[in-house]
Amino acid sequence: MNIPYSRREFIKLVGAGAASAALAGCASTPEIKKPIARVIVIGGGFGGATAARYIRAWGGGAIEVFLIERNTQFVSCPLSNLVLGGSRRIEDLTLGYGKLRDEGVVVLNDEVKAIDAGKKRISLTKIADLNYDRLVVSPGIDFMHDQIAGYDAEAQKTVLHAWKAGPETVALRRQLEAMKDGGVVLLSIPKAPYRCPPGPYERVSQIAFYLKQAKPRSKILVLDGNEDIVSKKGLFLAAWNDLYKGIVEYKPNNEVKEVVAKAGSVKTDFDTFKGDVLNVIPPQRAGNIAAQAKLITSNNRWCDVDWLTMESKVAPGIHVLGDATLSAAAMPKSGSMANNHGKIAAAAIIAQLTGVAVDPQPVIANTCYSYVSDKEAMHVTSVHRYDAEKKTLLPVAGAGGVSAQRNELEKSYADAWARNIWADMLG
Ligand SMILES: Cc1cc2nc3c(=O)[nH]c(=O)nc-3n(C[C@H](O)[C@H](O)[C@H](O)COP(=O)(O)OP(=O)(O)OC[C@H]3O[C@@H](n4cnc5c(N)ncnc54)[C@H](O)[C@@H]3O)c2cc1C
Repeated sequence: MNIPYSRREFIKLVGAGAASAALAGCASTPEIKKPIARVIVIGGGFGGATAARYIRAWGGGAIEVFLIERNTQFVSCPLSNLVLGGSRRIEDLTLGYGKLRDEGVVVLNDEVKAIDAGKKRISLTKIADLNYDRLVVSPGIDFMHDQIAGYDAEAQKTVLHAWKAGPETVALRRQLEAMKDGGVVLLSIPKAPYRCPPGPYERVSQIAFYLKQAKPRSKILVLDGNEDIVSKKGLFLAAWNDLYKGIVEYKPNNEVKEVVAKAGSVKTDFDTFKGDVLNVIPPQRAGNIAAQAKLITSNNRWCDVDWLTMESKVAPGIHVLGDATLSAAAMPKSGSMANNHGKIAAAAIIAQLTGVAVDPQPVIANTCYSYVSDKEAMHVTSVHRYDAEKKTLLPVAGAGGVSAQRNELEKSYADAWARNIWADMLG
């Protein structure tokens, strides 16, 4: 294996055990003298980690797989609202990349600065450029703070979105704990499409759960940029009515246009609203590296792909996954979907590299659970099948739907869903 940096650097980046195995030729997979190709995956989240793991496994170890992730550990957005509610800690949602390394994926803790599609090469922050045969880009989202006046770098220090799980999630929880009883938490939701359609409403429920226990005279004011609740409407309304009456105040058609951080207020077209804690979720687009590589094709926000292979419509040999894609009809931006994108891409890449035909009709399914307290949850599911005529994934009529009601059994399924998908992507 041609490694363009010193053994010391390499050991620092991938960990001693993995490094010696990788430098020896491979890790715990059968020894392959000369890999048939190198696939580089950018982003170790739901889409990227899944793709890396499955390309390595389904390729029988014959494909060299590099996974480049800027964070040293994976922190799950699913379940992160429970950190705000208080029934989980961020540590419960934080996992390492050690098992992926054991399976032979070369995980590098670095940030990709640029993609040169012509030369099939990426440049990184810490180590020298790397060449690839195929590239997978699963960078998730970045935020369009500039769409909201006043939401500048200074305001972002106190007005948090916590829409990428991690330090902001913990900081937002601290803000909730520091708020006086009788205070107002103001949560604003951007217009769809955004990451995780039911996520904001789950967050409303979790914050209301915390307020009910710890600060019962407080309330959560929800300013929704959409004309109605985007997902599981009946189930969320029932939960707020049954469990959090007088705590949740919901206002549709109220898109936040300005943040005045010092005054603790936000402005919509017609009104000004004040809050003691401001949780403003900005509009989103494909992660910055997708913009740098000119993979964004739609509305300056999302990347259009061929749904048979997840290959970019504008950059052959580059596969884009997850939230960064221009979603197919009725397809949510979810971890569940990104995990499925990873498998479509893995199968297609192996087929392309080995000259086998690509699956002509992939079928994938989505499940999103929402926790409304520490005890109860509910779900929405959908099935999406490739339509050869329309050349896209379409929802299968009559398949999927929402829970009849929230309950404790669904909460146990939700817990299991999280454990299973984390194991599926990270080993
Ligand atoms: C509060 C909340 C709750 C949610 N709940 C659910 C749920 O219950 N079920 C569900 O299915 N989904 C849920 N989601 C949505 C889910 O988290 C996303 O849809 C999913 O993370 C998308 O996967 P991805 O691979 O596109 O992006 P990510 O999982 O965000 O992964 C992208 C990775 O790429 C890395 N990266 C980006 N750029 C670079 C670069 N240049 N170099 C190196 N690394 C880079 C990032 O650090 C990140 O780790 C929730 C989201 C939120 C915010």
